[in-house]
Amino acid sequence: MAVAGLGVRFGSGVVALGRVDLEFAPGAFTVLLGPSGAGKSTLLRCLNGLATPTAGHVLGPDGTPIARRLRAHRRETGMVFQQHQLIGRLSAMENVLIGLLGQRGGWRALMPASRAERERALDALDRVGLLDRALTRADALSGGQQQRVGIARALVQRPRLMLADEPVASLDPVTAAKVLDLLARICREDGITAIVSLHQVDFARRYADRIVALAAGAVVFDGPPERLAQDDIARIYGSSPTAAVSEEEYA
Ligand code: ADP
Repeated sequence: MAVAGLGVRFGSGVVALGRVDLEFAPGAFTVLLGPSGAGKSTLLRCLNGLATPTAGHVLGPDGTPIARRLRAHRRETGMVFQQHQLIGRLSAMENVLIGLLGQRGGWRALMPASRAERERALDALDRVGLLDRALTRADALSGGQQQRVGIARALVQRPRLMLADEPVASLDPVTAAKVLDLLARICREDGITAIVSLHQVDFARRYADRIVALAAGAVVFDGPPERLAQDDIARIYGSSPTAAVSEEEYA
């Protein structure tokens, strides 16, 4: 997985990312840090083809541009969101099964889940420790449990790549640590390449194999957690949180 010369400029003129080059090693757990507005979500959305670059390329694990095989790339990519985006009136299991819809395509998406698919969903719920809650409505689960269902929904796809955008931002610190523990352990066990944005530096240090920090659409730190020093943190978060790179830098 890599991005080469990746740039995103929105119609409004805001440059969210300016010519970013990054390579993500298979199986590594990379944490994206940076102030609000730095471009983390935009980078994650580009990695899944949800945002369209205005410059450069996103290359899939096999080195071909994802734009050429977008459907296949999305099937291989699990997404975990801050607000987990579960459907509250559906059970945990039904929410996990939604993760498999993209694998079916066309009219098959309208058919009831097969026995094999239901077993896969239960297996994913088991991995996140929620097998006993499979039939519980999602809106009756705690915030941490809901995010674990969100992880199971991504996991059921058997992804090669896991993208998570501030997956623990709405959880208390103890629950957040448990959810991140789980996410990091599963990705490690399954050899899944993970790219996770966080706003807590201490969590980044604890879970990341590598930290990439963005500020104003540019990479301002890239290295192992033990190299992230106090002055790097000041540099990352010291820049104006909403500033985007200037048109000149982008050109
Ligand atoms: P982060 O995830 O680090 O908070 P984002 O990627 O969400 O940063 O945003 C980067 C910049 O792009 C910000 O200046 C933001 O306001 C802008 N931006 C994000 N999405 C859009 C959009 N759809 N239209 C216009 N500007 C956007």
